[in-house]
Amino acid sequence: MAEGNDNVAGPAGEDQPREAAWWESEGDQVHCLLCPQDCRIGPWRLGRCRVRRNLDGVLRTVNYARITSAAMDPIEKKPLYHFRPGTQILSLGTFGCNLSCRFCQNFTISQGEPPTEKLTPEQAVELALDARSRGNIGIAYTYNEPIVWFEYVRDTAALAREAGLANVLVTNGLIREGPLEELLPFVDAMNVDIKAMDDEFYRSLCGIRSGAQARRTVEMVFGRCHVEITNLLVTDANDSEEQVRALADWAASVSPDLPLHISRYRPSYKHTAPATPADRLQRAVEIAREQLNFVYAGNIMLDGGSDTICPDCGEIGVARRGYSVSSRLSDTGACAACGRGLNVAL
Ligand code: SF4
Repeated sequence: MAEGNDNVAGPAGEDQPREAAWWESEGDQVHCLLCPQDCRIGPWRLGRCRVRRNLDGVLRTVNYARITSAAMDPIEKKPLYHFRPGTQILSLGTFGCNLSCRFCQNFTISQGEPPTEKLTPEQAVELALDARSRGNIGIAYTYNEPIVWFEYVRDTAALAREAGLANVLVTNGLIREGPLEELLPFVDAMNVDIKAMDDEFYRSLCGIRSGAQARRTVEMVFGRCHVEITNLLVTDANDSEEQVRALADWAASVSPDLPLHISRYRPSYKHTAPATPADRLQRAVEIAREQLNFVYAGNIMLDGGSDTICPDCGEIGVARRGYSVSSRLSDTGACAACGRGLNVAL
């Protein structure tokens, strides 16, 4: 297996893209070991993510230091409701994805190759440090799938950590365990998108055989960094009561305090089913709350759907209206009224 990139040319703008991490040579093919798509890539061809290419028998990453989007976002937009509530985070994205979800809400960058600007890891950290005066806490790797930007995320996150900045991943969780272990020491918080509990959903709508590795990622990282999960409720695809119960059962087996965001789907890209009906989303939230202590409704305003409520005494710990946040937590992130821990990292 080849790892690291010390012996190769530099990032975008230079002749040769960087050598990727986590691959092995198989004759004239390369075998990418980064994610469960398990691509074997012939000469000059790209992997399924369209950002890792076999060039002369070497797997290279074509999106290193290439940025499609950079913005300061509320941390709640990731969504993370239990990690440093009310703060801002510099959010960076590139292009490419290891999935091809028919309902992708960001398909112009996940499935296309839009114009990019170069931002080295050093420049990214400088930008994040400059933004500290505007409340920035760190860098979020988001907008498209950060797993297929592995080398850049790893290099940037290591520098950011040294500079005292937080690193946040917004991810589908479909990464092999070896690369995840390599990244994890630099990660402060993750939001993992659990698209469904059944493999048929992943197969027919997302272009991968199974979603099991995404659940495994959550199980692996829980307790090692802050983690929350998101489930996009796609109309007539993963929104039955049975499917929501199965998701809540599994999440509760990780921890009843694992925060779950159930988000409203809207038609996008190749999927034309109507938006999730509000009453179905409300029902899904109610079902999940039977097993989980912190369940939120996303992409929709539901009464009480965004507040963090103490499961023991019923007091509101964090009240939210859109991205406006009002915290009533103790100094340690516990319920100010009864002292119960609310799984909040301040
Ligand atoms: S990261 Fe890309 S090239 Fe590698 S296995 Fe996944 S989809 Fe294939």
